[in-house]
Amino acid sequence: MKPFHVTFLGTGTSHGIPVIGCPCPVCHSSDPHDNRFRSSILIEDGAHTLLIDTTPEFRLQALRANLKSLDAVLYTHDHADHFNGIDDLRIFCKDSTLPVYCSEEVASSITSRFGYVLKTYDEAGGIPHLQLNKLKPYEMIRVAGFEVLPIPIRHGCKLILAFRIGSFIYATDSSGIPPESLPYFEGVDTLVLGSLRYSPHPTHFSVGEAVAFATKVGAKRVFLTHLCHDIRHSQLEAELPPHMHVAYDMLQITIGEVYDQ
Ligand SMILES: [Zn+2]
Ligand SMILES: [Zn+2]
Ligand SMILES: [Zn+2]
Repeated sequence: MKPFHVTFLGTGTSHGIPVIGCPCPVCHSSDPHDNRFRSSILIEDGAHTLLIDTTPEFRLQALRANLKSLDAVLYTHDHADHFNGIDDLRIFCKDSTLPVYCSEEVASSITSRFGYVLKTYDEAGGIPHLQLNKLKPYEMIRVAGFEVLPIPIRHGCKLILAFRIGSFIYATDSSGIPPESLPYFEGVDTLVLGSLRYSPHPTHFSVGEAVAFATKVGAKRVFLTHLCHDIRHSQLEAELPPHMHVAYDMLQITIGEVYDQ
């Protein structure tokens, strides 16, 4: 597999960090690692660029990452913190339609919440022009040069999508992995896993649960993301085993060189 880069555009939970008006020490930390936009990643192989999720800060994230073009967008789910930046995709589809890949559920959310993005050129200007593609669970699809496998994972009572590309898996907002999805985690080298806080939560893995799952599937390299302000980057990084890390905004990792032979 051709090596590719993953850039963390954001690594925070739905409030972002700092949380508006919060007096806590992490929200007032002087460590830039504790400053987190909502969670999203960019995947680039030098020829193609894929975006996973459009957060409410997508415009700021795109500017910060010097993003100039996009070939496709994938959605994990339709919660506001992963979805509501959809309008800012319009800069990337001025002269063509931009393909979007998502579940049936997310597709109906796009239609009901942002239906104007599916209108044609003739009907309106100054809007995104997106082309919807519905993903089927466990069905590999070729997206802008990447072989992408959508894997259903549990997010509270909802089933959302993790994405596997080669031996890399992005699984944000996870609170459990259904037994039928477990085989698709086999052989994962680099696992990005949502982990909200130290204490349990009904819709997200805690740190302990995330570490236990990553250990169970034998991931060689793990990055925890979608963190809340209960977690101070430097403290958790020091507590984790050497092959596990706390992701932070604008961290870039390479997949397929050392870890994917
Ligand atoms: Zn989220
Ligand atoms: Zn706080
Ligand atoms: Zn969510």
